[in-house]
Amino acid sequence: MAITDIKRYRNVIILSATIAIVVGATVITGWLLNNQTLMSINPGFTTMKFNTALCFILLGITIFIRHSDKSKNQILANILAVTVSTIGLLSLLQMKGTIFYIDELLAPDNASATHPGKMSPPTSFCLMLSGVAMLIIKSDKKPYILLTQYMLHIVTLIASIALLGYIFGSPHIYRYTFSNSMALHTAIVFIIFSVGTSLANPNRGITALFTGTLIGNVMARKLFIWIIPSVIVICYTRMLLYKYNILSLEVGLALLSVSFLLISLVSVWKTSQTLNAIDEKEKRFEENLRLGIEAAPYALILSTQEGEIIHANYQAEKTFKYSRKELMGTDCKIVLPVEIWSTIKEVRKKFYSELKPLNFKLEDNMHCKRKDGSTFPAELVISPVATPQGPLALTSVIDLTLRVETEKLALEHLAELQHKNQEMEQFNYIASHDLQEPLRTVSNYIMLLQEDYPENVTPEINEHLSVMDQAVCRMSKLIRTLLDFGRLGKDKKLTLTNCNEVVEQVTADLNNLIKSTGATVTVDNSLPTLYAYDTELRQLFQNLINNAIKFSKKEIQPQINIGCREIKGFYKIYVSDNGIGIDEKHFASIFHIFQRVHRQEDYEGYGVGLANCKKIAEMHGGKIWVESEYGEGSTFKFTLINLKP
Ligand code: ADP
Repeated sequence: MAITDIKRYRNVIILSATIAIVVGATVITGWLLNNQTLMSINPGFTTMKFNTALCFILLGITIFIRHSDKSKNQILANILAVTVSTIGLLSLLQMKGTIFYIDELLAPDNASATHPGKMSPPTSFCLMLSGVAMLIIKSDKKPYILLTQYMLHIVTLIASIALLGYIFGSPHIYRYTFSNSMALHTAIVFIIFSVGTSLANPNRGITALFTGTLIGNVMARKLFIWIIPSVIVICYTRMLLYKYNILSLEVGLALLSVSFLLISLVSVWKTSQTLNAIDEKEKRFEENLRLGIEAAPYALILSTQEGEIIHANYQAEKTFKYSRKELMGTDCKIVLPVEIWSTIKEVRKKFYSELKPLNFKLEDNMHCKRKDGSTFPAELVISPVATPQGPLALTSVIDLTLRVETEKLALEHLAELQHKNQEMEQFNYIASHDLQEPLRTVSNYIMLLQEDYPENVTPEINEHLSVMDQAVCRMSKLIRTLLDFGRLGKDKKLTLTNCNEVVEQVTADLNNLIKSTGATVTVDNSLPTLYAYDTELRQLFQNLINNAIKFSKKEIQPQINIGCREIKGFYKIYVSDNGIGIDEKHFASIFHIFQRVHRQEDYEGYGVGLANCKKIAEMHGGKIWVESEYGEGSTFKFTLINLKP
């Protein structure tokens, strides 16, 4: 049984169990207090016996335990169910004076005129059946489920007959042919309990007739609800008319026949109305299905289980180059890949019963056929469609030719790009290595001239040689910087990085500089922890904090504030200072390699720090920019996304 079914009816089942317990407890109270009303409702009616009331309580508790899902308590539920059955059985078998005599075991019966304490045989029988039903109600084996349902249905039937006896004021009915009768409230509780608990298996037995969702079930619910009360009312009226001699027997019978004819007519009328409404709905559904298929932006083919095409849309005509007329009635293998039908055959039962679509993606390598015999790669989704004529298959086809070509082109470009990158790296290496060599030679010769020919090197020449040496050193540094820039991020590793810790480490590394300048670095609010390339991220923070100290105003101690704001899907981090600021016209250029605003003599540097920062921010799917006013300090802002490892 589906879990949803159990959940859907859970409250009804629990309610029926609660009613059984409450009525049982009330009647037991009646027996203990010797209250006739609680025992029999009406003084003229039969009493609900003490044992019956007790059994109702036990049955109710059994249901509560069965629904608690605690497996260790299930043994207790089994014991209770067996107890109820045994009481029912013993009550049926009992003979006064024998060991079976159990009626007045728990409470004396002074209320019954005849057969004191004797539980009526129908009640005993119903209790016996209910107990057995509660014993196996949780079983998932079909024969047991059916047995449970039919036992509960028998209880409903017996109790309903007794109830009708009370309604018609005819003790012959509720007494059956037995010596004593089923009490009114016993009959009502049996009906409520047996109908309620039969919902534990709503898809089986007669219960399924009323709980199902098919047209037959809808009809059963509708007709049952009004036919049963109508028949009872008509028969009751007929009985009263006869009882008070208002109508003769013949006229009464004639009127009864007419009434039943009328009921039948109204039933037929109601049935046809419902069927017509459903038929109309189905026709509308078919029409909407056709319109939906037609409006789809990709090729759609509707076929039978055997693969015969019964509808194709305009896009299908365009995709396969067949006219709709040509496609209709043919086997869909003429356009769709043969493989999909063998797959459908294999999983057919599941495919049509569970109504789950089958997907064939690009990697499944499916190819469809056009009229001219050419093929094209396609993505396919085959959906089972439940229609009044039975299940059909709706196949949507997406032509992947363009995507495959684009992906091929992109792969070619990527390979080309990788090749160019390799060439660049090689160039960088050669440049750094080979260019360093002549520079080192020049530097050596300058040293040779200064050391070996001191008599020829006048102070003026010496000064020129020193300037030359400095230029060579700077050139060498620039080449190394360029190489580092090219290699940035080459060995990057994605790790879970706490930015607060990164900033702490950077400020510790810059401790000497911070102390000597009297700078303060504060973090305004907590920085994020995210997946990032931590070495590169550290370099980014280091460059920005270093710059904030380097480009501070003379005589003013640098103050650096760092903070973060989380915006949908990414983090925006800022590093602001109270330094010299930047003119707006340099906002873009300072992020280019070797671009500087200041002279080397004023502020040392090579103009590569911010270019590195830009590369690192982009590596993290973000960007970097500056907001500043000349003389008023600067705020560098960059964004990062939490990269997926
Ligand atoms: P470098 O610091 O080596 O010059 P950068 O790429 O780090 O190179 O910076 C480029 C230029 O941007 C710097 O020369 C400077 O003029 C300007 N700049 C960078 N950071 C700041 C700052 N916090 N305040 C003012 N100017 C800055």
